[in-house]
Formats: sequence, C-alpha cells, structure tokens
Amino acid sequence: MSDLTAPVSALKGVGPALAEKLKRLDVERVEDLLFQLPLRYEDRTRVTPLVATRHGQRCLIRGEVLLSEVVFRGRRSLLVRIGDNSGQITLRFFYFTNAQRDALAKGAFVSCYGEVRHGPAGKEMVHPEYTIQRADETPETAPSLTPVYPSTDGLHQGRMRQLVKQALAIMRRSPPDELLPQIVRDDSALPTLVEAIEYLHAPPPGIDMDSMASGMHPCQRRLAIEELLAQHLSLRQLRMQLQQEGAVPIAIGSALRQQFIDRLPFEMTGAQQRVLEDIGHDMALTKPMLRLVQGDVGSGKTVVAAGAAVAAIEAGLQCALMAPTELLAEQHYRNFCAWLEPLDISVTWLTGSLKSAARRESLAALSNGEAQMVVGTHALFQAGVSFANLGLVIIDEQHRFGVHQRLALRDKGEDGQRLPHQLVMTATPIPRTLAMTAYADLDTSIIDELPPGRTPVNTVVVPDARRDEVVDRVRDACRQGRQAYWVCPLVETSDVLDFQAAEETAQILREQLPDVSVGLIHGRLHARDKEAIMSAFSAGELQLLVATTVIEVGVDVPNASLMIIENAERMGLSQLHQLRGRVGRGSAASSCVLLYKPPLSRTAKARLAVLRDSNDGFVIAQRDLDLRGPGEVLGTRQTGAMNLRIADLTRDADLLSGVQTAANQLLQDQTAAGELRICRIIARWIGSASRYGNV
Ligand code: ADP
Ligand code: MG
Repeated sequence: MSDLTAPVSALKGVGPALAEKLKRLDVERVEDLLFQLPLRYEDRTRVTPLVATRHGQRCLIRGEVLLSEVVFRGRRSLLVRIGDNSGQITLRFFYFTNAQRDALAKGAFVSCYGEVRHGPAGKEMVHPEYTIQRADETPETAPSLTPVYPSTDGLHQGRMRQLVKQALAIMRRSPPDELLPQIVRDDSALPTLVEAIEYLHAPPPGIDMDSMASGMHPCQRRLAIEELLAQHLSLRQLRMQLQQEGAVPIAIGSALRQQFIDRLPFEMTGAQQRVLEDIGHDMALTKPMLRLVQGDVGSGKTVVAAGAAVAAIEAGLQCALMAPTELLAEQHYRNFCAWLEPLDISVTWLTGSLKSAARRESLAALSNGEAQMVVGTHALFQAGVSFANLGLVIIDEQHRFGVHQRLALRDKGEDGQRLPHQLVMTATPIPRTLAMTAYADLDTSIIDELPPGRTPVNTVVVPDARRDEVVDRVRDACRQGRQAYWVCPLVETSDVLDFQAAEETAQILREQLPDVSVGLIHGRLHARDKEAIMSAFSAGELQLLVATTVIEVGVDVPNASLMIIENAERMGLSQLHQLRGRVGRGSAASSCVLLYKPPLSRTAKARLAVLRDSNDGFVIAQRDLDLRGPGEVLGTRQTGAMNLRIADLTRDADLLSGVQTAANQLLQDQTAAGELRICRIIARWIGSASRYGNV
C-alpha cells in the first residue's frame, strides 16, 4: 500500500512517460500532488439561469435550441441561439463538423460550460464545452468547485484531477502529521493541514472566490505559512551544519591589521569599526563565520572587507574576494593591491577573461600558497581552482549571486573538518522581514553611517525633451573640473543593442561637447580595455564616461559629481539608487538627473518620486518592495532559488514574523523527536536536496 511519500509512479495509470511530465511540474512524490494547488476554479456546481449570467463569468447553463444557422459575416461560423424560461444566449462556433451542426438543430436541449461575453447580438459563449441532452434530463452538476491545475504539454486537466483524487484518497487513509507548532495555529485560528488541502482541491459551492483568487483564504495561508517555515528552517539548518564543522580561529587585534588601519588615508567611521569588530569576534571562534554586512552605497564596505582579509592573512590563511562583475573585481583588485602590497601581502587575481598563461600562474600561486589574497569573479570557484589554505571568503554584492554560488564556494576551503569563514556584503538594503527569510542562515551587521563630508545627492526627474539643458549641465560640471557619468538606456535584454545605443550616445555627446573628453565603457569590452578606460576616468583624463549599466555596482571615482541616467523609468529603484551612488562620494555637491521618455505611468511616476525624495537605501528598498515585489529587491536569482510553490514573499510578508517565532520554538526542542519534526517539515516542502541547495 502506497503512502504520501511514495513516488507518483505508485499511482494508478502513471507510467514512466507521465512521471516525466509530472516531474516538469516538480511533482515527484504522491504528496507533491497535494501541494500542487489549482490556479483557479470552475463552478459547475449549479446551473445558472440565462438571465442571471454576467459578462466575464464562467458558468454552467442549459437551454433549448431556438435557432441554428451558419453565417458568413467575416468568418464562417455556426450560431446557435438557446433559451430557457428566463432569457437567451448565443453559442458561437468557428470550427464545427456537419454532425455537430445537425445535432445542435432547433428543438434540441443542450447544457454548456463556458465564459459569457458581450457579442454583437447580446450575450454569447464562444466554443463552450457542451452536451446534448434529452428534454427531461438535467445537467450533471459537480458537488464541489472544479479545480484547474497548472499544466504542462500533454498533461490534461482530466488526468491531473484524477491523479489528485487518488492522492487525496491516500491522504484520507493515512493522513499526514500536523507539523506546524500549536502556537502558530492557535494564534491565527488556521485550519489543519488536512482540512486546508481538502478544501483547496475541492472547495464547496458558494465560497468567496475573490479571497481565493487573491491567495488570502485561511486555507491558502495555512499552507503558505508552513512552506515559509520549511524554507526558513532549511536555511537555519544549513547554518547549523556549517557551524558544526570547525574553522581556524583568527586572533583579533593583530599587529598587521592595526598597521593596515593606521596607513589608511582616512579614519574609519564608527559604523565601520563596529562592523569590523563584529567580524573580528566571529573569526576568533572555532566555527566558521557566516556574516552579512549590509551597507548603503558608499558606506565603505570595501575597506571593512580588507581589514578582515588582513587579519586572516596575518594568521597564515588565504583570503578570496568574489565580485559579481569583472569591472568591479578589477577595481577591488586595484584597491587591495594599494592597501595590502605595502604590508608585503601578495595579491593576485582570477577572472574568466584571464589568458591561459596568466591563469595558470594565478592557479599555481593559489594552490601552492604563494598568493595570500585573490580577487576575482565567480571564476574563482569553478573546478580546477584549489587553494593551499583558504581561511576567509568574501562575497561582494551578494544579491547578484544565488544562494547556490554562496554555498559552492565553501567547498573550496574545505580541508578535512575545516571550513573558511564567510563574509557576505550587500549594498541592497533589504527590509528586515525579507532579510530574515532570505538570509536566515547569516548573522547581520549594518554599516549605518556614511563617511563624513558627503553631501546628499540632489536628484531631479526630467523628460528627455529637455536633454539639451542636461548636456549644458555636463559641460558646466566639466568646466569646473569635475566629472560626469552618462548611463545609457537598457535596450531589451540584448548586450549588442545596449552597446550600440551607448556607442551612438557617446558619438552624439562628443559632437555636442567638443571640449570634453568622452570615454565609453560597456560589457563587451575586453577586461584590459575596460580597466584602461576606468583608470583614465579615475585619473581625470576622461571627463565624461558614457556607460551601459555595467557601472552599476561598486565603481568608485570620488571626483565624479554628476550622474545622468537615461530611460530611468525602465529601471528598478534599487538599481537606480546604486547608479546614483556612483556620485556624491567626494566633498563636492553632486546631482543626479533621471531622464525619462513621457508619458509616465502612475507607478513609474511614483517610483521616480521615491528616488527624488530619498537618499536612504532602506527607505528606497522598502518602497521598491511595495511597488515591485521581492524578486526585484532581492534579485531574481535569490528568490528563484527559494522556489516557493504557494507562498509569496510580498503577499505573505505579514506571516514572516510568525514563521520566525515558530522556527525558534521548533529549534529549541533538541530531542530526537524535535529534530525529526524539523526534517519532516523540510522534506515535505523542499524535498530532496535536488530541489535546493546543491545545484
Ligand atoms: P561601498 O560600501 O559602496 O562598497 P566603497 O567601499 O566603494 O563603498 O567606499 C566608497 C568610498 O568611500 C571609497 O572611495 C572609499 O575609499 C571611501 N571611504 C570608505 N571609508 C571611508 C571613511 N571612513 N572616510 C572617508 N572615506 C571613506
Ligand atoms: Mg562596494
């Protein structure tokens, strides 16, 4: 006898081909069918009198054919007028056989299911499902609403319904355990798991369809909360597993680190010192650090990372820093060379574009331990890269990477029982509730202070018809010895088009600004050329840098005080905030011009206003979350990796704090039964590791 955890092939009628199709829907076990919720429902529980049918409604109707004709207006079609004692409606068919036409002749009784629309001659149904009936026969009504499931090629609704029915029958025979802590259920008066599942697959007639469609029905919330709990627990468990393995403790207050701090051309802010202390404290332990540093653009995360790197290196360990783009990796490389080489630390670098000889050299230096510090892109963590004694891994702009990449790199440092310490940095300030869910495996420090002497960036929103005035501003800024960025519109998702648009813009600006030296940078340039252009801009040889959004993250040129962003209405708020963060890094008053193409939608207007009115990344992120949803705030990869079936981080945001309470309660119970319960919640929702965490 099969149970809920059996593979779907245990069900009647499921062979290898069907199992394969179900797998595409992430349905592998019988239980998965229960969590495969309907997208919507059809109401076949009652016959709707024709007079009561409304536009847009899908319903079951019945009537007698009053008139049947084939017409040729525009397109050959069969029109069948039916009536009951309350009203009339027309059935319209574009495709029909002669047999169908004959069966739908005057005097026949027919029952139909379909969507009611306004047609040229009143209400109609286009291509309804129908059955011809005897005069005394009543249509067969369903006892409950009919579910419509997410589908895939060659897997029909009828088949899905029949499979779910089998799964429900198994569930009734051997009900799944209620795993949600009592406290959560008491608090929110939620139905039990079994009640929720029964209800959602076969809701009774006459329910509130709106609350179902919005996902706010208590039964839906019941499942969402358990799913979020499972996600949260799996991250927490991952963290505990990592921390059970040892790490090499790194002494705090080391001499070299002090030397590094003393040599800096500025004093670290209080926030930077505090975060560096948090890190020092973590690294001094014999379990691996797992810390996220959040800090708004320009808050000075890099130097904090370098401080941590120096401490690790002084302890005789290697440190690796991973950045999301080559451009940013190059910039970090330059900074780390400038900061660390005077301390006799050897810094190397590794990215995908490195020529094979240079790559071999870097790889050798990493594996024999000659290189103490390496800066690079995700190329750092691919096969073939090995470290002599990796002790600290730093990931910059974490939101650009998925959870998997974060996990993949811990393996690089695995040496017997020891894992490297992990430091993760992000400039995307994440609202607290989201952070608790997406980064439940990390401790968090926040750099909540900007270096002194910064003046907030003044932001204006300008239609592109006033482009000439903007060009004048660029000219003025350059005359005053300052520098500017001009960010070109994103063209679709194509690299090539992005690059062409940027090239054209650069050409036009060169003509309009003959006295200004204009550079162009985009993702298709070779690393070497990008670096040359960036250093020319840093050195002030280039005054205006035309760029695609490749400069979005991290680029740092304090003398630049003007940022122009074209087609700002197409970009996300966090992305715009990051771009804007390229200016306002020196002491000169800086501005940011957001150019847009009218007309602006209401939301677009609201979004640009948020940016104009706030310089605070947290405020902006919260608004971005409200306006666009968590996928955009966290980065699609991040939420994609969470792979939620039922819950929705925006809609269900209010459930998150309850989820955390429940998780804490479950984790406190360290008996075997308590641990088993956690494993079962995770297994129920996340299943085997193939779904999560080890891609
Ligand atoms: P982000 O947090 O956006 O990564 P960076 O690390 O790139 O910021 O730092 C931005 C700029 O501020 C850099 O030029 C850096 O040298 C400078 N900086 C960092 N900390 C301080 C400080 N305490 N005082 C003055 N300037 C600082
Ligand atoms: Mg940075």
